[in-house]
Amino acid sequence: MEVFIPVDQARAMITNILVRQPVVTVPFEEALGMTLAEDIVSRDAIPPFANSAMDGYAVRSADMAELPVTLREIDQIPAGVVSQNVITSGTCMKIMTGAAFPEGADAVAPIEWVDATVGDAVTFNRAPTSGQHVRPAGQDVSEGALVFNAGQLITPPVIGMLATLGYSSIDVYKPPVCAVIATGDELVAPGEPLMPGKIRNSSGAALRAQVEAAGGIGLPALLARDNRDSIATAIEKALEADVLIFAGGVSVGDYDLVKDVLDEFGMSLLFWKVKQRPGKPLAFGQLQGKPVFGLPGNPVSSAMCFEQYVRPALAAMLGRTMHRRPLHPALLLRETRKVAGLHFFARGIATFGDDGQLYVEDTGPQASNLYASVVRANCIFHLPQALEAAPAGTPVVIEWLNW
Ligand code: AMP
Ligand code: MG
Repeated sequence: MEVFIPVDQARAMITNILVRQPVVTVPFEEALGMTLAEDIVSRDAIPPFANSAMDGYAVRSADMAELPVTLREIDQIPAGVVSQNVITSGTCMKIMTGAAFPEGADAVAPIEWVDATVGDAVTFNRAPTSGQHVRPAGQDVSEGALVFNAGQLITPPVIGMLATLGYSSIDVYKPPVCAVIATGDELVAPGEPLMPGKIRNSSGAALRAQVEAAGGIGLPALLARDNRDSIATAIEKALEADVLIFAGGVSVGDYDLVKDVLDEFGMSLLFWKVKQRPGKPLAFGQLQGKPVFGLPGNPVSSAMCFEQYVRPALAAMLGRTMHRRPLHPALLLRETRKVAGLHFFARGIATFGDDGQLYVEDTGPQASNLYASVVRANCIFHLPQALEAAPAGTPVVIEWLNW
């Protein structure tokens, strides 16, 4: 077991043991937030047929060399209909946006270019160039094109594209089921009265929500007390899940029993304590092949450790190509207090200055019991382990917290 390791080593040790979830087939409309486990190839050209980009008239542009010009309307083509007629010299067809472009024509004159219609005689004051306002077949996607690679996160436009391509069901990686276990004799459920010495169990609910936001399935959070039996009962129940996430009980206090009881269950502890703030007592191990995270119970520490370690782990299990949020360079607006030797996950508010530069400042006091520092943040900014101080103007990297 490794003790008091740097952040990068902790990240690597977690990534090294994770395996992708099994593949399941789901209806595409239920796949939002999941990850494609198959490449998606277009079976058709999109659009499948040439069609009009405007409400107007399908014409032969060569007929319209001199203006004004009067053409004879021989048909009308609403969307969804294919005309049986062919446009010959001197004729046109009224056509709606998206309707199949008729044979013989090469352009569309929009309705606004019509001067007058008398019976079937349509007079135009402007002429399209050849091909103008016509959407060719395959303009968007050509037949046989590779549209998405396996590993793609399924976002709303991915769902839209799957619909366009006619994929009614797709292969995805099964979202990992995650058990959250809050521990502590001081905790009461959020709906219960606060007795002296008690606090509400916030980390349980927040971590479950973080699981869901990260694409996992969060079981209702379990609550264990600071005794071996209670923790053991919770572990047995939690082993129904794919991932175990503890909040609290992993530090060095007299009642921090989680690691001990997990050890009795046969967990191999891979590391304990990371050179970071918040979340120094973070523990990570493997039990029955399942990743086990022991997050410190403080709501700030558990939230940050989740975002830094559990979220990327879930992304890897979900088969995603991107495990971490993208990082962006920014400049510190004012000093954030830090000590050398620990990597800081500071909660920040980032904004663009008038100069177009991204600036960030911390959300105020950063102690790990001050949950407001998380609630107000729109980003996490990183202050690396080696950095001795972080005065105004320090270049940092941020990750937006678009939970
Ligand atoms: P622990 O990690 O168990 O040493 O707890 C560290 C601090 O976080 C203590 O002040 C606990 O009362 C608090 N804490 C632990 N678990 C929770 C929780 N689920 N919700 C809110 N606060 C918690
Ligand atoms: Mg505790």
